[in-house]
Amino acid sequence: MPTQIACPTCKRLVDWSSNPYRPFCSERCRLIDLGAWLNGQRAIPGEPLGTDSPDESPPEES
Ligand SMILES: [Zn+2]
Repeated sequence: MPTQIACPTCKRLVDWSSNPYRPFCSERCRLIDLGAWLNGQRAIPGEPLGTDSPDESPPEES
């Protein structure tokens, strides 16, 4: 019995060993997941970008 995994995009069971698009079932699902990342739907929670760092001070010129 071949190892099967559920496609993260469409939840369809796909064969792992013979699947070039793993963990997805197809290139389409892979691109859909990639698009979800790019659209911010799967944004990783963390520190917001663009905040001022207190350690950074402007260089002093004498
Ligand atoms: Zn899929």
